[in-house]
Amino acid sequence: MRKMNKQIRLAVMLLVLVLLTACGKTDNNTSKEKPTGMPAVTTPEQEPPVTPTGIPATPTPTETPTPTEIPATPTPTEVPATPTPTGFQAPEKGCAIDIPTGERYHYDMDLKLDTDKNTVVGHVVFTFWNDSTDVWDKLCMRDYSSLFTDGKTVGYDPKEVKADAAMTEITGILDGRDGSALTFERDTDVSVLWLALSKPLAPNEKMTLTYDFTAKIPNLADRYGYYDGIYNVTSFYPVLAEYVNGAWSHEKFVISGECFYSEIADFDVRITVPEGFLVASSGTESSKQTVNGTTTYTLKAPCVRSFVFCASDCFAAADGTYDGVRINVYYNGKNPPADKMDECVKVTLQCAKDSLEAFGQAFGRYPYEELDIIYAPIAAGGMEYPNLIIITSEYCEPIERGPEEDPKLSYEGMEICVAHEIGHQWFMGIVGSNSGLEPWMDESLTSYTERVYEDYVGFDNGLVLPMDQYSAEILRETLLDSWIDAGHLPLNRSCYEYAKEYQYIASIYETGRRAFKLLEDSVGTETWYGILREYVRRNAFKNATAKDFLDVFYEAVPEDNTEAYMIVGKIFDLSRIPEYAGK
Ligand SMILES: [Zn+2]
Repeated sequence: MRKMNKQIRLAVMLLVLVLLTACGKTDNNTSKEKPTGMPAVTTPEQEPPVTPTGIPATPTPTETPTPTEIPATPTPTEVPATPTPTGFQAPEKGCAIDIPTGERYHYDMDLKLDTDKNTVVGHVVFTFWNDSTDVWDKLCMRDYSSLFTDGKTVGYDPKEVKADAAMTEITGILDGRDGSALTFERDTDVSVLWLALSKPLAPNEKMTLTYDFTAKIPNLADRYGYYDGIYNVTSFYPVLAEYVNGAWSHEKFVISGECFYSEIADFDVRITVPEGFLVASSGTESSKQTVNGTTTYTLKAPCVRSFVFCASDCFAAADGTYDGVRINVYYNGKNPPADKMDECVKVTLQCAKDSLEAFGQAFGRYPYEELDIIYAPIAAGGMEYPNLIIITSEYCEPIERGPEEDPKLSYEGMEICVAHEIGHQWFMGIVGSNSGLEPWMDESLTSYTERVYEDYVGFDNGLVLPMDQYSAEILRETLLDSWIDAGHLPLNRSCYEYAKEYQYIASIYETGRRAFKLLEDSVGTETWYGILREYVRRNAFKNATAKDFLDVFYEAVPEDNTEAYMIVGKIFDLSRIPEYAGK
């Protein structure tokens, strides 16, 4: 998600300005506000996040259990090639990220979008195994779509969604091992379902769970909702929760963070929509058949964390390719008229190509066949899903530029948002994490990817400090201390630890990317990108924790680089990471 608030950005920039003034000189380079052209994005009024019962205030770093029988570690085809003085070897720039072979969790889904009732009806056959060393006598499933029965939970005035929401109906739950019917209980958090197994599931034992569901789609301009003729259908099917360190992970959904946390899986999906509807999805279309007024799309989505789709009978589409990746842009072709969108779509396609090139070089090449970009009503501004991103159509209103100004800045706000959501394909999609407990692992790293894009296309990213004017070490330390004093650091806190949404955004989005820039300066750009590529290589298609990031950092950076170690110690609260406490 990209929820950049201009006031917060200004506040952070002002803080830099004040600090530099205190150092004796102000430099316009650091205080320059970027002409982002960001449209005002509505942030719903929200109650302060409350630490939910059962969720520890201090996140416990976890190790994701690796199944002993299931191949999960991708084998890099390219040999690490960039040695550093420490002997650390990073994968070379632009290395391949191969989708691993071997069996994965598998969802086979038949879905029907009912545009009269505004529901999605599904029949799911889900095959998985116990990937822990414990015996499971129950399963935890997450049903996020039912959260819309309480508008407050999803960031709205309850009256806005109550009339249009309903709890997801789930029926016909069968255990494929013996055909036994299973029942479930909803927790007080209605998104948490507990399924009692009549026969326990042993470590590495496989089972198939069959179920039917009907999920109501609310009338909202949101990541899950229909509005202005477009259906955004995400997090709509009951999904198995993660089992980590001997317990089911079922963190409370918080609108500021995504709180999506799931295992990589393969998806075979058939979606039936009214004739005339176009479907964009996480998958690649293998066939499309129209019979008796309905069209059925047959789709495959290998090795992704979730399956989502958007559908509309007013979609227009354009496409391009980059390095074998097909890029599709979908937008409302009727409102505004399609020709008004031509320039925006053209810039979007170029932005997507540039992002794939810049991020592919920096972190390893995008491993999937397709990337879909959907312009749709979405209050958050932008939202990321595997192989599909949703961007507010407000971004297609160009900012007027004078004859002396650079015309490419007209869509800068859109470009940064598109690049940000594409950046999530690496930090959320390829490398997963618990976005509720460790939001920096997706949002701070992804906010940092904005800089990679900005550097690639030549935007001023406002992150370059006037190092020639001051002692770099003193400046970095002063800035970091000021961020600590302001409560923006450490980064490794859960989203439940921020009393206000703006504090979360200032910390995780703004300070995070700036802090990583300081870290980059202290280790050198080549080493920094090597660290990120190696972090992605080691954790591709798994769920990572802070420890996994620091493992690579400490291997790559020589101990005599005391400044880099100082910066890491200020960015992170190492006492929360047992393996690195006291480092
Ligand atoms: Zn984001």
